[in-house]
Amino acid sequence: MIRKASTHVNQNEGLIFQRSQPGRVGYKLPGLDVEAAPIDSMIDPRLLRDDDLAGLPEVSEVDVIRHFTRISTWNYAVDFGMYPLGSCTMKYNPKLNERVARFEGFAASHPYTPVELAQGNLELLKELEEALAEITGLAAVSLQPAAGAQGELTGLMVIRKCLESRGDARKLVLIPDSAHGTNPASAAHSGYQVQTIKSSSHGSIDLDHLRQAVNEEVAALMLTNPSTLGLFEENIQEVCQVVREAGGFVYMDGANMNALVGVTRPGDMGVDVIHLNLHKTFSTPHGGGGPGAGPIAVTKELEPFLPFPRAVEERDEKGERILRLDYDRPQSIGRVRAFHGNFSVLVRALCYILSLGPDGLREATETAVLNANYIAHHLKEDYEVAFDGKPMHEVIFNDKRQQKSGVHTLDIAKRLIDYGFHPMTVYFPLVVAGAMMIEPTESEGREELDLFIDAMRSIAREAEENPELVKSAPHNTRIGRLDEAAAARKPVLRWKSAKTSLAAGNE
Ligand SMILES: *Cc1c(COP(=O)(O)O)cnc(C)c1O
Repeated sequence: MIRKASTHVNQNEGLIFQRSQPGRVGYKLPGLDVEAAPIDSMIDPRLLRDDDLAGLPEVSEVDVIRHFTRISTWNYAVDFGMYPLGSCTMKYNPKLNERVARFEGFAASHPYTPVELAQGNLELLKELEEALAEITGLAAVSLQPAAGAQGELTGLMVIRKCLESRGDARKLVLIPDSAHGTNPASAAHSGYQVQTIKSSSHGSIDLDHLRQAVNEEVAALMLTNPSTLGLFEENIQEVCQVVREAGGFVYMDGANMNALVGVTRPGDMGVDVIHLNLHKTFSTPHGGGGPGAGPIAVTKELEPFLPFPRAVEERDEKGERILRLDYDRPQSIGRVRAFHGNFSVLVRALCYILSLGPDGLREATETAVLNANYIAHHLKEDYEVAFDGKPMHEVIFNDKRQQKSGVHTLDIAKRLIDYGFHPMTVYFPLVVAGAMMIEPTESEGREELDLFIDAMRSIAREAEENPELVKSAPHNTRIGRLDEAAAARKPVLRWKSAKTSLAAGNE
């Protein structure tokens, strides 16, 4: 049975070029009240383009609005329904945050506004730094990095600078094999060699392998906790101790902090540096490439090396408290981004933190973990879990059982689209063959979780009874299964070649 789903919009929409009608325009200008003159009598002919603009679509305002509004509804969004994309934390973003981020004093203030006139904005930076320091259990925060990946780079640069200041630059960064690809990329980018640490069969760091690998050339261990396998690193204190005893630092990838906020703190576990993905854990719309924010929190020891400028508290001539920007930080690694980071994302994060409060943040964490466990529990009869441990905020299955009838992870993900859900994360983490990574987040209520579970169970049944149906999904979308390899190998990027290709019937 093919269930009807994904019926958000039912019109097929071609390219805007296909709507073009010669001479059609979307504007009307008043008649000339000066004499018409040829363009090259007013503009240096060398600046004029030789090729004409033929080929640009000639369309009316209604054509443009309908075209773009229709294709905007082709997107799946967290405001439509559950978005179970593991690792990405696609939680609902409260509209209050959007409202506050649009306040004129935040949205319209210029980054060069004199500090005396930007006290409110500096106050926001300071307050967010303090909140994040409290949440992570670390001493100091830099809000500059624009994303998690840049936070990683910044954190490693801070570690390198600190080690260099001791005359002990070191060469290596240790990274578990389950890590997100940005970890080794950031380590390599900051000039380190990467050495991989194995995961044990339970999905945690292999402590014996770590002990063997640690030596006086190791600058840092980069680990994710809970790991990208969705499991809490139970030996975290011992792991930190092993690295620190050898004079290295512990960098924690905090992309999964939504499993810990308000419950436990990385600083208390022995972590030296962590980045937070504000767009994930602290609720900013993301996906499609940003903007985001990846602040880092560090220990007292590493604070002098943080990027400048930093908002600091001073007294003015009258002895009153004033915030200023401190550029005089001789040990700093320098700036990593213009101005003060992606300010509007910072506004949303503080708004989220303050509107939930300590109890609300803890409850969000507990609900995220509960929801993932609910899904794990209800799907374990139909899908094989990758690891036996108790999942935190996300759970990973593999496609071993479905493979028997020739159905793979990709097919299951595509079939989920027919049921009206965005697919889960597939084939990540790389250490799990055929991984399906599901992160419901705390945003989903029981009804939505049950719908998702029903859909997944139904797909598991279909995989047994009618595998061809799953293997050829999606069926209820405007466009069926795409040949992704051809799309990557023979991309059609120019309108003129697209037109030829359309004419040749290669839609
Ligand atoms: C998302 C993510 C990153 C990268 O963060 P960006 O903000 O996308 O740069 C790094 N590590 C993990 C585990 C992640 O989930």
